Amino acid sequence: MQFEPVIGLEIHAQLNTKSKLFCTASTEFGQLPNTNVSPVSLGLPGALPVLNKEAVQLAIMAGIALDCEIQERSIWARKNYFYADLPKGYQISQFEHPICLGGRVHLIDLNKTVRITRIHMEEDAGKLNHQGADGIAGATSSAADLNRAGVPLIEIVSEPDIRTAQEARAYMEKVHQILTFIGVCDGDLEKGSFRCDANISVRPVGESAFGTRTEVKNLNSFRSIERAVEFEINRQISVISSGGAIVQQTMNFDDTSGETTPLRSKENAHDYRYFPDPDLQPLIVTASTIAAIKSSMPELPDAIQERYSTILALPAHDIKVYLQNRPLFDLFEASCAHLKKATPKDLSKWVVGDLNALIKESNTPITQAPQVFAELVDRCSANDVSTKMVKDLLPVLVKGTPLDDAIKAMGGGQISDQTELTTMVDAVLNEHPDVVEKIKNGKTNSANFLMGQIMKKTQGRANPDAVLALILDACKPQ
Ligand code: ADP
Ligand code: MG
Repeated sequence: MQFEPVIGLEIHAQLNTKSKLFCTASTEFGQLPNTNVSPVSLGLPGALPVLNKEAVQLAIMAGIALDCEIQERSIWARKNYFYADLPKGYQISQFEHPICLGGRVHLIDLNKTVRITRIHMEEDAGKLNHQGADGIAGATSSAADLNRAGVPLIEIVSEPDIRTAQEARAYMEKVHQILTFIGVCDGDLEKGSFRCDANISVRPVGESAFGTRTEVKNLNSFRSIERAVEFEINRQISVISSGGAIVQQTMNFDDTSGETTPLRSKENAHDYRYFPDPDLQPLIVTASTIAAIKSSMPELPDAIQERYSTILALPAHDIKVYLQNRPLFDLFEASCAHLKKATPKDLSKWVVGDLNALIKESNTPITQAPQVFAELVDRCSANDVSTKMVKDLLPVLVKGTPLDDAIKAMGGGQISDQTELTTMVDAVLNEHPDVVEKIKNGKTNSANFLMGQIMKKTQGRANPDAVLALILDACKPQ
C-alpha cells in the first residue's frame, strides 16, 4: 500500500523586545540564572501583568508579513498545567480569539503554498537545568531558571498542508527568513529564539480523512526538522504496514541517533482548562493602528526577490545572500541608490563578494558612507580604477577612510598627466617596434597589446582612454 504523509507545523518565535510580555524584566540571553525576573515573571501572588505594547506591534508585523487577517479584538487566556518551570501554574496565551487568523507562505522553489491557520501570542515558560548526570532520566537534581519565563512568543500554526520532509524544512526556513528579515525575531536557533513542533500522520493514498498524528516537539534546526519528519513518516508507515496502529502521542527527537521516541501521551485542549485571564483586558487593536504598522513595514522578501531578479537582474545567489543578511541588504540598497554609471549587478558583485567577507572578518559594522562604494564601482565601470585597485581599496574603505585619501595612499589614482603618460607610451613603443609597424599598417587592434603593457607597468592606474589616444596618435600611418 502507498502512503501519503500529512504534516502541520507549530512554530514558536521569540519576539525581539527588550523586556518581557507582561513585566519590565529583561529578555537578555545568557544572564546568571534567575536574574532577569520580577514579581510578575516569578508568579508571586498579587503581582499583576501589564502588557508590553512593542510585543503586540511585532506580532502584528509578523501577521502582516505572513498574509494574515489581524484581529481587532483578541483575548488573553490561561492555559493551566503544572510544571516546575511554571511557578504561576498557568501560561498566559491566546486560545479562542488569537491576534491573527488565516495567512499563507509561498515556497517559491517548490511552487507550493502552505496556509497558516492562526498566530497567537503567549509567554514562554522557564527552563529546567538537569544536573548530576546527562539527560532527564539520570539527573540527580534539576534547577529552575526563570530568566526565560514571560519572554514574549508568537506561535504560528500551519494548516496540515505539508506533504514531505523537504517541504517541512523549506516552510520553516521561509518563515524564519521572513521574521528575521523584518526584525520581528532575532532568529537565533541555538538560543531557542525560533523552534518548531511537527505534527505528522500518514494515510493511504486516495484517502481523504487524516490519520492519527504524533507531535515531535522542540525541533531547533532546519536539519533536525527534515530528519525528524523523515524518520517519523517511515516509522508510522512501518507500524501500519505491519498491522499496528499509531498512538496519538508527543515525541522527542534525538539528534544523535536520528530517532523519535515517545515523550508523553498527547494532551487535548480541554486538559488545560483554558479560560479568559481575569487580570487582563481584551486586546483591542484599532484598524488605524494596523494600517500604521502596515505602512511602516519594510519591503518583504518575496517582493524583493521579484524586484531584484526581474528589474535589477541580480544573480539568484546574490538575492539569497541579501535575504539572509539584512545589514548587507541595507548597505546594498543605500549604496545602489547612488550609482551613476555602473549597474546594480556590478555593485552587487563587490558587496556580496569582497565587502561581505570583509564585514564578516572584522565583525564590526561598517562606518563608511554607502555612496562611497557606489562611487568606487562607478569609477571602476568608467575605467578610472581597475578591478585590482577596487580589491585593494575595499579593505581600506571599510575602515571609514575617504575614497580620495585611500587612492592617494595606494600611490595615487589614475594617471592622467599627459607628460607622464607620453614618456611611458614612448618607452613601450620603443620596446615593440614590430607592433608599432602593425598598427601603422591598419591593425589598430594591436594597440590593446601596448595598452596592456602600460597597465602592467602602472598596476592598472594609467587612464586607458588617454593612453589609447597617445598610442594611436604615435602610430598614425605616414
Ligand atoms: P494541538 O492544539 O493539539 O497542538 P491543533 O489542532 O491546534 O492541535 O493542531 C496543531 C497542528 O497539527 C496544526 O499545525 C495542524 O495543521 C496539525 N494537524 C492537525 N491534525 C493533523 C493530522 N492528522 N496530521 C498531521 N498534522 C495535523
Ligand atoms: Mg500543539
